Amino acid sequence: MSFLQNYLSNAWQPKSGAVATLFDPVTGQPIATAGGPAEGLAEGFAFARTQGTTALQAMTYGQRASLLGDILKVLQANRDAYYDIALANSGTTKADSAVDIEGAAFTLGYYAKLGATLGDARILTDGSAAILSKDQLFQSQHILCPIRGIALFINAFNFPAWGLWEKAAPALLSGVPVVIKPATVTAWLTHRMVADVIAAGILPAGALSIVCGSSAGLLDALQPFDVLSFTGSADTAALIRAHPAVARHSVRANIEADSLNSAILGMDGAPGTPVFDLYVNELVREMTTKSGQRCTAIRRAMVPVQYFDAVAEAVGAKLAQISVGNPRNPEVRMGSLVSREQRDNVQAGIAKLETEAAILYDGSKQAMIDADPAIAACVAPTLLGARDAEQGALVHEHEVFGPVSTLLGYRDSAHAVSLAHRGLGSLVVSVFSDDHAWMAQAGYELAGSHGRVHMVSSDVGKTQTGHGNVMPASIHGGPGRAGGGEELGGLRALGFYHRRAALQGSSATLQQLAHAAKNWLV
Ligand code: NAP
Repeated sequence: MSFLQNYLSNAWQPKSGAVATLFDPVTGQPIATAGGPAEGLAEGFAFARTQGTTALQAMTYGQRASLLGDILKVLQANRDAYYDIALANSGTTKADSAVDIEGAAFTLGYYAKLGATLGDARILTDGSAAILSKDQLFQSQHILCPIRGIALFINAFNFPAWGLWEKAAPALLSGVPVVIKPATVTAWLTHRMVADVIAAGILPAGALSIVCGSSAGLLDALQPFDVLSFTGSADTAALIRAHPAVARHSVRANIEADSLNSAILGMDGAPGTPVFDLYVNELVREMTTKSGQRCTAIRRAMVPVQYFDAVAEAVGAKLAQISVGNPRNPEVRMGSLVSREQRDNVQAGIAKLETEAAILYDGSKQAMIDADPAIAACVAPTLLGARDAEQGALVHEHEVFGPVSTLLGYRDSAHAVSLAHRGLGSLVVSVFSDDHAWMAQAGYELAGSHGRVHMVSSDVGKTQTGHGNVMPASIHGGPGRAGGGEELGGLRALGFYHRRAALQGSSATLQQLAHAAKNWLV
């Protein structure tokens, strides 16, 4: 059984008291161990801040983009091993592992290409110079300069591959060294990817470090110019916001927390219409992809009250075809959750929602395939519903992180939008309609409380990228309870890893920068 060593100060660190064991969530077999509180954090962070920053920031954006391309090649060469690890540690089918592993590769490739467009630039300008003096000679030019610290990533358990690289790609492109702390329960895949990239010798010393196991001391090792990107629960997010590094030292923190995403079927989506079918397919896909363990998954499904029964029936019929169990069996369509603890949380969450919503489809009536219900972390899909959406509050407050969604009947457009807002800030809402004028208006009204509004009409039914899929060209993050963070969005992602400064001086001085500069959003 392998021990997931930490990599700090350009060296694999000796074992420091294994306190955590990682399990196969289907068989319950132990598969790896990770350590207790990491030793050498302050030195490791200092090494990255000095050596890693200096080496990365000596390069142009184009050179760093080419490093991302090299990382991608290493990941592609080791792809089979990643699928094996995902199967053993996350209990996912091949299709669900691909969402994480190929999603990581796609995002890295995207930033490698986008970064190449910055070419020889060493400086990013933000807008053009503003004239400050009557003679027009004294001017102010805003520039973005890479931060002088490290980027610490504390990640959730559900995306050990994509969760690392969707953050690391823009950070490394910006010239900022990365320290990754994966969620312990699924840390093996992140660890293996980092180990492969380090072994390939692509990155300069200090550019990539990893801490597995205990998170103790991580935040204490942060210094004022560092940044912290956290993905996980609202409770841990609250601890992080109150930590002195963030509260007193102004460490910039990006928080991606839980989210009660919704999907709205338009009034024109009667049974038999193309948008009705698109909506039903999307809801089933969202409930079952990665067993519903996606932060973007549809938790609240709003439909015109007159179509409530038809949607429930159509979704139930499709969910009945989802076989659940051991993903090693080719008949299985949906594998397990990441741990028995998560399974217990999901079952408790269903019981909680059941106090105000009825169970419309209960997949647990079907037998699991090749999995012992007393051991495996498998949970069957469950659709709940409240015809009168005003009856419940919990559905807007309690995220059940599994294959679970609640159908809500709405009266009119204003009612649907107000229900979506009751999530108090979500990552994504989708709207399904062929009434483009209504959908555009609804999209605008929903944008105030969502990071992304995904609008599906039948003309894009086959090409739309999916409610829950995070595309690197669009931003990922949401206001309010979703954490208030923002990631990706093309070159916008680089903003988090740069500081904006105003350079004020003679136009003759400012022009000296022009040869090395590129405007960051052109
Ligand atoms: P979690 O318990 O908050 O853990 C997240 C990460 O924080 C893990 O790496 C964990 O390490 C670490 N951690 C725990 N306590 C810490 C502390 N005191 N100081 C520093 N780090 C600490 O969340 P989770 O249960 O793994 O994740 C599930 C949640 O994540 C769901 O609610 C989901 O909505 C959310 N999520 C959000 C997004 C998004 O993009 N918005 C994406 C995915 C998931 P250990 O594993 O070692 O405890």
